[in-house]
Amino acid sequence: MSPAARNAWFRTLGQLALVLAIGLAIGLLLGRPWPALTVAALAVVAWHYWKLRGVLLRLTARQRLEPPTGEGVWNELDRLLHRSQAEMRARKRRLLAMLRAYRAAAAALPDAIVVVDRNTQRVLWFNEAATPLLGLHYPRHQDASLVAALQPLPLAQWLAAGRNAEPLTDVASPADPGMRLNLRLIPYSEELWLLVARDVTRTMRLEHMRRDFVANVSHELRTPLTVVHGYLEMLDPAEIPEWAPMLAEMQRQSQRMNQLVEDLLALSRLEARDQLPEEPVAMAPMLATLRREAEALSQGRHRVSVEDAAGVDLLGSTKELHSAFSNLVSNAIRYTPAGGEVAIRFARDPDGGASLAVRDSGYGIPATHLPRITERFYRVSNSRSRESGGTGLGLAIVKHVLGLHHASLDIASEVGKGSTFACRFGPGRLLPRDPTPETPALP
Ligand code: ADP
Repeated sequence: MSPAARNAWFRTLGQLALVLAIGLAIGLLLGRPWPALTVAALAVVAWHYWKLRGVLLRLTARQRLEPPTGEGVWNELDRLLHRSQAEMRARKRRLLAMLRAYRAAAAALPDAIVVVDRNTQRVLWFNEAATPLLGLHYPRHQDASLVAALQPLPLAQWLAAGRNAEPLTDVASPADPGMRLNLRLIPYSEELWLLVARDVTRTMRLEHMRRDFVANVSHELRTPLTVVHGYLEMLDPAEIPEWAPMLAEMQRQSQRMNQLVEDLLALSRLEARDQLPEEPVAMAPMLATLRREAEALSQGRHRVSVEDAAGVDLLGSTKELHSAFSNLVSNAIRYTPAGGEVAIRFARDPDGGASLAVRDSGYGIPATHLPRITERFYRVSNSRSRESGGTGLGLAIVKHVLGLHHASLDIASEVGKGSTFACRFGPGRLLPRDPTPETPALP
């Protein structure tokens, strides 16, 4: 008990004793002490009941309590009630201010934010940016069905995926078909979802410009390079023997530039596509071709083995898959010293899919480089890559081709022991093997 409350308590006890003493004194004077004492006690009880009623009335009236001025327990109780009411009001004011600040921040965000009821899929709240980005208007779309409000966006299936919904990237805005959006669904409580839409028109335009620029430059470089390369081929080093080493170097460099341009064009072509032809890819001839290519590149310096254990074919683009696989085979040969081993294996996976793995016993790749190895022009060792005639684009092409086939690239490597690059295809990509494949063996 606080000192003030203790004082009030003793003061009230004192008052009670005083009233009873006065009652007793009057009773003694009148010669009938008990009735007088009883009347005094009843008066005290009645007074307390009256005060209690007052407190109950003030509490039920839900009015702002006036700060009490008197003393005694009832005043002390009033003072405590007044204090807790004032504290509660201050807390409420603070919470309201915070809520307003959050709302103002959410409303001012450049991204569109929509709060959706998870069960009914209805719009509960949206910020200002939802109007220009998604075409939502207040109050028309308040409590409207999200799928209907954002037509023609294909949201029904996306919402059905709920927590597992992948972000929708580069979709046209329902408010303005020229605007491109990225949409994300964030389930932030049991009942509520947050739909966040970001305007990526500028980023997409820049990305297109970058892609077109690279493709155009590569295309423009192709002709002059072919001419230079052609003339270099025509020059006979036997005629000017002192130029022979320079000519050989010039031919090697122009060959490298040609390869760079071809790889850049291949990457641009792949980037510009959303999907590839879905044709049966005969794996037996594919593996035979990969063996031939590996042996031609190795020139007998490596032990090359090919194992076809899957007994299935794939669904996808024969041309692009061949380009990806042969990039992996070429890397395995180029980054494995003479006397090493290169094993190509096509086998089923435990998940029902299949994978084509290229294993080598070569230099290996330090673990720190693995996360970035498929970026374009990323090399573990520049000199080794150049020596081996690499452009730094091979694995970027592999990753793109596999992405277009919804397949993944798994890389395991140990320095000094070798590496394994495995292309994993899901069960949906497998076809029963045709014993008489129509697709001829690749050249
Ligand atoms: P590059 O044309 O330089 O070979 P890639 O994109 O094919 O470009 O490969 C990127 C880098 O990854 C290479 O420079 C090399 O350092 C490393 N790398 C790729 N495959 C292997 C491999 N089988 N063994 C060791 N290192 C490899």
